[in-house]
Amino acid sequence: MAVLRGRILRATGGFYDVQTDGGAIYRCRARGRLRKDGEGLFVGDLVEFTPLHGTQGVLEKPERRRTLLKRPAIANVEQVVIVCSPQEPPLSLQLLNRLLVLAESRRLRTVICLNKNDLPGSSEAQDILKEVFHAAAYPLVFTSALDGRGLQELKELLRGQISVLAGPSGAGKSSLLNRLLPGAKLRTGEVSEKLQRGRHTTRQVELLPLDDGGLVADTPGFSQLDLDEVDRASLPALFPEFSKYSSSCHFAGCGHHEEPDCAVKQAVCEGWLPAVRYKHYLAFLNEVVKRGGLR
Ligand code: GDP
Ligand code: ZN
Repeated sequence: MAVLRGRILRATGGFYDVQTDGGAIYRCRARGRLRKDGEGLFVGDLVEFTPLHGTQGVLEKPERRRTLLKRPAIANVEQVVIVCSPQEPPLSLQLLNRLLVLAESRRLRTVICLNKNDLPGSSEAQDILKEVFHAAAYPLVFTSALDGRGLQELKELLRGQISVLAGPSGAGKSSLLNRLLPGAKLRTGEVSEKLQRGRHTTRQVELLPLDDGGLVADTPGFSQLDLDEVDRASLPALFPEFSKYSSSCHFAGCGHHEEPDCAVKQAVCEGWLPAVRYKHYLAFLNEVVKRGGLR
């Protein structure tokens, strides 16, 4: 039989469910040497496999993976949807900016999704997000998993992409996934309260196929929020709206902090760049500089 190509959607008990481009799913065992060589196979990996009878197969080898996210480990993610809410939990721009920096450092496309727009205070939260992220030009989508608004727009942003949702607990990530994938039945905060202890068992991450093509992880990404892969020199580029000004800074490689003739700082003072983005830039800079000093 000819070798086929597909992507690992889930891994359970030594089996890998591999989806071909055509959408067929094969349950595969890994070839012996693959199991031994310790390189690891991850959900999201593209693989070659030999189909056997029915929908079974033998996984031959993984293709070179482009990226690997940690905790949960998912290969080849392209996009992160950062879900936040106007209240329960309240909007935190600091957390949002931190997640954006993490996503940028992984070279992921980013969408900011304000959920719970059925709650009071959401139009104020929308205005804040529009103002703060206008210069960076991150796509914004305003949804409600309760009444369904904005879901079509979110679907369009997910189409054809391998996405992971991230954001504070309680913002509605599982609820949104349940709306996007009615068959998936993910546990939401409400349902799982009684099951809290059972919630964090060793269940593996899964990629769920969306109706219009594209995949979305069933487990939130970026559970680890420290900036340990970011350093002082790379941080400025993780704020994409700075680039328009940074070429006019007096020093090449300006850190936009205490350097004289800094065009970024100037743009913040004149109101061209949002002050709150710059404030958090400085906070993150301080964090990575401090960490560097301790090494
Ligand atoms: P997660 O921790 O981000 O996965 O959040 P969940 O999906 O578990 O939702 C947390 C709580 O918020 C649950 O009680 C949901 O019913 C509720 N919730 C989720 N989305 C919405 C929404 O759009 N509007 C309102 N009012 N409540 C929501
Ligand atoms: Zn500068």
